Amino acid sequence: MTKFIVVTGGVLSGLGKGIAAASIGHLLTRYLKVIPIKCDGYLNTDPGTMNPIEHGEVFVLDDGGEVDMDFGHYERFLNVTCKFSWNLTMGKVFKSILEKERRGDFLGRTVQFIPHVTDEIKSMIRRILESEKADIGLIEIGGTVGDLENEFFIEAVRQISLDMGQENFFFVHLTYVPMLSNTKEQKSKPTQQSVKLLNERGIRPDVVITRSKAKLNKKIREKIALFCNIPPDAVIDGHDVETVYEVPILYDEQGLTKLIHKKLHIYSPPELSGLKTLVKKIKRPKQRVKIAICGKYTRLQDSYASIIEALIHSGAHLDVKPEIIWLETTNIETGETSVEEALRGIDGIIVPGGFGTRGIEGKIEVIKYAREHNIPFLGICYGMQLAVIEFARNICGLEGANTTEVESDGVEVKHPVIFILPDKAKEKNYGGTLRRGGYDVSIKQGTILHKIYGERDTIRERFRHRYEVNPQYVPIIEKHGLVFSGYSKTEGIMQAMELPSHRYFIGTQFHPELISKLEKPAPLFYHLVKNALERKQSQT
Ligand code: GLN
Repeated sequence: MTKFIVVTGGVLSGLGKGIAAASIGHLLTRYLKVIPIKCDGYLNTDPGTMNPIEHGEVFVLDDGGEVDMDFGHYERFLNVTCKFSWNLTMGKVFKSILEKERRGDFLGRTVQFIPHVTDEIKSMIRRILESEKADIGLIEIGGTVGDLENEFFIEAVRQISLDMGQENFFFVHLTYVPMLSNTKEQKSKPTQQSVKLLNERGIRPDVVITRSKAKLNKKIREKIALFCNIPPDAVIDGHDVETVYEVPILYDEQGLTKLIHKKLHIYSPPELSGLKTLVKKIKRPKQRVKIAICGKYTRLQDSYASIIEALIHSGAHLDVKPEIIWLETTNIETGETSVEEALRGIDGIIVPGGFGTRGIEGKIEVIKYAREHNIPFLGICYGMQLAVIEFARNICGLEGANTTEVESDGVEVKHPVIFILPDKAKEKNYGGTLRRGGYDVSIKQGTILHKIYGERDTIRERFRHRYEVNPQYVPIIEKHGLVFSGYSKTEGIMQAMELPSHRYFIGTQFHPELISKLEKPAPLFYHLVKNALERKQSQT
């Protein structure tokens, strides 16, 4: 029988509920199948069309689903390949109800928020957990308790707990404990009030996890326990830690795993020794390298969350801290900063994925500099496309080489070395029409890519793009020394490139960061950091 862990949040958004949920799940994965479900109150079907500055990274699943970045945490912490259906948005819920209504499924009845919306949510949750044969359904409810748009998720979960028996439910409430700057006093009132809001909705938390800067003091812990009606050991101190990978350890040390075991009558003790060793390396690295990430979303680090994680994973195994330098390439484009200046002291460069015209000429300048100065470079998706453009322009002499993506901004493209996938050009809708999800990549033998991936001939990686290398230009580009080392056998798409004459200059149409795990870093990031370190050492 499936047991449930429900994570709600209070006081503020952005406290790291996804990390908290993923960390709790991590503690139980040894013997149990934990399936995460994320409930989001917004009306977009998925976050695919949402601005990453506002919403953070769009995480792409193997099945092609575009989901909330919390799924990145789930996949990294729970060792599962998540599915699109596990992200319940109000958009999806309403869409399904309205389709049913048109089909006549409700014939004769008035379709109402209660019971129809809540029933729809309940049946979606049940279907997922049944078909996955989940031992634990880990349900994270987005937003903060009291938000109007999330009420139906909370109500649906309350109803399921009534149907399935409260003893099969473990409710976790994540709150914030502020500290007054003048008296340095931690305050429990916001937590008390948010637990009250939860109680009003018929839910009594089994534990309260508090987020705070400093450790929770004993007095405040007791106060929270008393006012929230839980024992003091059910107040879990989730104070700020250096790395998110420490969070499961922090929770376990305070007895959270045991509390869950006891209430849910399960037994699945975590194996944390490997995690502890890697966390130690993240916190106390022997060396440092500077990796520049270039792009127009660099203002908001959340839009590149998985890249940051992939660098941390690689660093942990190399005993080095990859220090990230954010480079706004529009500044290079306008001449505000020169490339040399921007890249001074940089040991490695990432040009990540992106869309549109703004900032790309600056990125191309960075790529040129990396190529000419033998600086380790990894171009991801748009980063690879721009590397191909740079090479076509400056080495193959194809002046005006570009991607047709810029044409909508009135830029003339003389040589469309990157162009739109023929079947994507016909699409009229914008949402959900990118080529996305997991695809096989065939690797050319004898290439750097082949070596990096342990001589495997085929790998599976995740994609999210609309444009690709124009096959017409492949011969001329390859003639000048660029090697397309990864390709799709079935679709003929170029999926990776490299410069054999360079120390480390690789571009991938896929996003290797999306499947990187702390225990198993993405090889392309690992070798970027390794090469950056070697370059740094050779210079000193
Ligand atoms: N804009 C490019 C495309 O659509 C790259 C997309 C990306 O970097 N994710 O192909």
